[in-house]
Amino acid sequence: IARPPEALIGDLNPQQAEAVQYRGPALLIGAGAGSGKTRVLTRRIAWILTQFGAWPSQVLAITFTNKAAAEMRERLESLIGPVASRMWVSTFHSACVRILRRDGERIGLKSGFTIYDTADCERLIKLIANDFNFDVKRYTPRSILARISDYKNNLTSAREMLAQYAPDFKPGQRGYRVGRIGNPEELYAVVYAEYQHRLAAANAVDFDDLIVRTVELLRACPDVAEYYHRKFRYILVDEYQDTNHAQYVLIRELAGVDAGGHADMGAVGAGRVGPAWITVVGDSDQSIYAFRGADIRNIQDFEQDFPNAKTIMLEQNYRSTQTILDAANAVIAHNEGRKPKRLWTAAGAGEQITAYAADTAQLEAHWIAAQIKRLHTDDGVRYSDIAVMYRANAQSRSLEEGLIQARVPYQLIGGTKFYERREVKDALAYLQAIVNPADDINMRRILNVPKRGLGARAESQVTLHAQQIGGTFWDGVAHADQIEGMTARTLNPLMRFAQMMQELREFAQEHDAKPSQIVAEVLERSGLLEELKKSQDPQDQSRVENLSQLQSVAAEYEQNTPDATLAGFLETTALVADSDQLPDESQDSGKVTLMTLHTAKGLEYPIVFLTGMEQGTFPHARAMEDTSELSEERRLAYVGITRAKRHLFVTRAAVRAQWGRSAEMMPSQFLDEIPADLIDWKRKEAGMERMRSGWRANASHDFGAHGGWNDDEFDAPSSFGGSSYGSRSSYGSGSSYGSRSTYGSGVRGSAAHAGKVTTRRAPVRQPAQPASSLKTDNHLRIEDFAVGDKVTHDKFGLGTVVDAQDKGRNSVITVDFGSSGVKRLMLRVAPIEKL
Ligand code: ATP
Ligand code: MG
Repeated sequence: IARPPEALIGDLNPQQAEAVQYRGPALLIGAGAGSGKTRVLTRRIAWILTQFGAWPSQVLAITFTNKAAAEMRERLESLIGPVASRMWVSTFHSACVRILRRDGERIGLKSGFTIYDTADCERLIKLIANDFNFDVKRYTPRSILARISDYKNNLTSAREMLAQYAPDFKPGQRGYRVGRIGNPEELYAVVYAEYQHRLAAANAVDFDDLIVRTVELLRACPDVAEYYHRKFRYILVDEYQDTNHAQYVLIRELAGVDAGGHADMGAVGAGRVGPAWITVVGDSDQSIYAFRGADIRNIQDFEQDFPNAKTIMLEQNYRSTQTILDAANAVIAHNEGRKPKRLWTAAGAGEQITAYAADTAQLEAHWIAAQIKRLHTDDGVRYSDIAVMYRANAQSRSLEEGLIQARVPYQLIGGTKFYERREVKDALAYLQAIVNPADDINMRRILNVPKRGLGARAESQVTLHAQQIGGTFWDGVAHADQIEGMTARTLNPLMRFAQMMQELREFAQEHDAKPSQIVAEVLERSGLLEELKKSQDPQDQSRVENLSQLQSVAAEYEQNTPDATLAGFLETTALVADSDQLPDESQDSGKVTLMTLHTAKGLEYPIVFLTGMEQGTFPHARAMEDTSELSEERRLAYVGITRAKRHLFVTRAAVRAQWGRSAEMMPSQFLDEIPADLIDWKRKEAGMERMRSGWRANASHDFGAHGGWNDDEFDAPSSFGGSSYGSRSSYGSGSSYGSRSTYGSGVRGSAAHAGKVTTRRAPVRQPAQPASSLKTDNHLRIEDFAVGDKVTHDKFGLGTVVDAQDKGRNSVITVDFGSSGVKRLMLRVAPIEKL
């Protein structure tokens, strides 16, 4: 590869250049946001190939998303040419799929294994819940899966859990009674073990298993481990701060760090090879995935974990203005126990941060849309250079409405993904069942899709039969003629189904059948397309389009993949993530991007709006009382702020709908943590604060219909009241007590404030007359309730207090409502009265 080394380091600063060229077994490039970590990692790979003389096949590069992998590969191709395509540049999950496809048989995974997505896993847990008869309201599939995921991220096996909590249980065993002794750990252990047992029987894995089972493979089969030790001489990991324990162990296993040998590259030869050289880059201030098991200690302990490790810090930021960096530095400085680092930039101070406090989430969206419009029309900013970020997906709705109203084109990242749509999942289920007939979840899914008279009864007859013959669900279907007492009305469609699946499989196995052809055949033969085409439902038309889209995706996959297979195609669909929907930055998409802060990791935009800067929204309500969770929220704020290159906007709303009610929101503490002189407030007070100051200024002011709000900053558009924009307002979403929660602080304007909004917005129910307790401060209110008190609730009726916890604004009481059940209620918002 003829490329002068100057081209790879000439435009880098000295620390960056040092990191690119460093020779040694373990390198940590630790640095703040936008300091060129990803850029340096990419250059280092090019350097390793061109200057160290490594082959592309000896390099394993791990990125956090598929999209980041694709970008890195592209950059590498432009740096060193097409050889880059022979390198493994991928996410952990994709790399593991490749490893398992090759050698998974050694640990009992047959080729063609299925990767279950979250919905599939939930179905599996529900089936188990059914058989074990436990309460899915108390133990929701989601919470059980979260637990199982924790175990897996820490490499805790089901066997270990069973040994500790349910030694008598054998996976696959019927009639075991769980949860009777009141120890949830026992239930988790049993369900975990049964879940693994059934995944294995279905020849399927979940996402976490991809990592766990690869570690298992490498540990169980020294020859396989040896193969990868010899193969990968350089392992490089981006976003290392968000790796979990299982991934950390995986890296060590792949690199052979624990396998002995010595780090001297000269030792590569006939005998044992030394460990691979490891480069990790990351920023502990950007660790934001603890809730998914990421362990910040991986980066903090790197120097202890890897012998002879070297750390190189980068401090110059190339992304943002000094103002943006100062804000980010000031916010993150509030986290304890971190190594202080100072980011600086040569870019100059730049513009101040623009801030705005809106009365409601709708008005916040309206203001943002107006700013974007102005930037676009007056300043010529491209829409694609603007990103709007928020803490939780649910916030996107009002933002979208605001943008739609202002006719600003946008693209939402996240939401229902293509591969999660019902019809697409149905088609994929056929394909999975073809590749892997043991896949019970998908086989069951398609048994009666489209409808062919095989309902729940037929399904359970088949299940029972499968159990009796000790086979999979498919075995039950294939031998349905042996089922006793089955009527011809069930047996005939069942045999036709078996026949069809058999023929589809034969079609797929003909060696020249391409994935796109198999997709087409499945859509036709299964009757999926026909059912949708016959339908009068307009939604079904777009479903037909989605299925045609699926066929196009398969065709595209074939074009880009030399040895395209159906199983390979299914893998690519299984590993798609939110971030993969992001538009290609090299082209102008002509759209504003809307996404969560988590999805924004690693990205940059000239103009960024950070929205919903409120206590309870961001930081998230869940995190506000736990210092470690609050620290993680603050890191998320740091990530958000540092996505901006030129201009940062921060906005908040004084009132936001939560759980169908409007709640008064206090400004985010992160706003206070930004030095005041960096912020240009276009409007600083909103909602209650504004009303209070207005009240002080003019105590006799009538807060009725139009009270004092029609100021210039308000600039409501003329079309305001009519559209869906207003009518979906956060106000009083059907509950008569909507504003109780909001305006509980005893100001007489509570009804008046809502009234004022009412006049501008779609019809809203007037709040109920303020009850006496509403005038009490929330802190005091909890003291009104003692265990044993009788209360009445608007919906649940009469109840008895069984617990009361003083958590200030978030005080919670637990009430037994008899036949309506025991409920935990947030005092601030619950429509309850003491009797
Ligand atoms: P994050 O922490 O957000 O992942 P990062 O540290 O990975 O950020 P990069 O994305 O690699 O940072 O770089 C940030 C921006 O700075 C990019 O636009 C990159 O091209 C640019 N950049 C990095 N180093 C240099 C340099 N030496 N000269 C010019 N531009 C640079
Ligand atoms: Mg990066």
